[in-house]
Amino acid sequence: MTEITESEKEAVESYLALEDDALESLSEPEFLARQRELLAVEREHYIAQASQLKAEADSLSQSNEPVEVQFDEESGEGNTLTVERERDLALAASAYAAVDEVEAAIDKIDHGTYGVCESCRELIPRARLRALPYARLCVKCKEGGLPRRR
Ligand SMILES: [Zn+2]
Repeated sequence: MTEITESEKEAVESYLALEDDALESLSEPEFLARQRELLAVEREHYIAQASQLKAEADSLSQSNEPVEVQFDEESGEGNTLTVERERDLALAASAYAAVDEVEAAIDKIDHGTYGVCESCRELIPRARLRALPYARLCVKCKEGGLPRRR
C-alpha cells in the first residue's frame, strides 16, 4: 500500500479550499486527478479508522473473558464491555464499507464512468463530488428515492 505523503495531503487541502468557480474551470483530467488524490486520502483515513476500532474491539474481548458472553438480562455486570465491543465492531464494519465505496469510486475513475449518477445517468455536479467523492447518486436521486419513470 502506498502511503500518503505530507505534500499530497497539502495538495488535497488546497483543492478542498478552491472556490466553486475555480473547481468548475478545472479541465476534466485535472478534476479527476484531484478527485483521485482525495479518494486516496479518504481511503487511508477509513482504513486507519477501521483497524483502530478493530484493535479496540480485540482488546476488549481479551480483557473480558469468556469471549462469547451469553446474553444475560439478569446481570448487567460484565456486559458493558461486550456492548462496547459490539459497537466498535459495528463501527469498524461501516469504516470497511466506506473503504469499499472509495475503492469502487477509484475503479470508476479508471473505467471512465466516474461522476455519473447510477440512477438517472446525469452528471453529478463537481461540488457534490468534491464534498462526497464516492457519491453514487446525484442529490435528486439520493433524496427522491426510487426514480419515478413510467
Ligand atoms: Zn440521479
